[in-house]
Amino acid sequence: MLYIEHRERQTKVLDPGTRYAVWVQGCKKRCPNCINPRGRALDSNGYHIGVDELFREIMGTPSLTGITVSGGEPFLQSNELVKLIRLIRAESTLDVMMYSGYTLEELRAWHEPSVDEILSSIDLLIAGEYVEELNTNKIYRGSDNQMIHFLSTKYLPFKEQMEAVHNRSVEFVCREDGELFMVGIPAKNFEADFARRLLRE
Ligand code: SF4
Repeated sequence: MLYIEHRERQTKVLDPGTRYAVWVQGCKKRCPNCINPRGRALDSNGYHIGVDELFREIMGTPSLTGITVSGGEPFLQSNELVKLIRLIRAESTLDVMMYSGYTLEELRAWHEPSVDEILSSIDLLIAGEYVEELNTNKIYRGSDNQMIHFLSTKYLPFKEQMEAVHNRSVEFVCREDGELFMVGIPAKNFEADFARRLLRE
């Protein structure tokens, strides 16, 4: 079973294309001004879902380009996550993009077979802690120290374009528990700007 915070069947704000997105619950890092503090708790704020159920739902979702796994910290649940990635690879042509607060070098230094298998199976990894001072509104990553690793050749032709774009979008969804959930990476100071605009209008 995976312990996740949220899943979204079709989103376009996480690019490339239309994506099924999963936010894994729990992270041991404490980046100042973390983009998703609710997602850090290791044993609360989430719910369990079986890998097979998640896979069936992904396969039943039309028009997908790929899946995105974010968090929290996805690699803390690599033993379960690898089962999902295996199914995706075996049964579909969907690409897989993952986020991690650890660098690629740190992840490889874990010498954990499930982590290594994931890293050899996915297309894109955005890796590294969030550093507020290095947030320049680039697409895909919270701050410029976070590296986009092209782990397969699928998006390699678009490397320069993907690394240069400053064009972030977010969308809000209302979850079943009534909470608003933000999908996407917000622009720097988004919350303060958003509140200011709300008060003005
Ligand atoms: S790694 Fe991500 S989820 Fe974890 S504290 Fe840093 S910004 Fe937050």
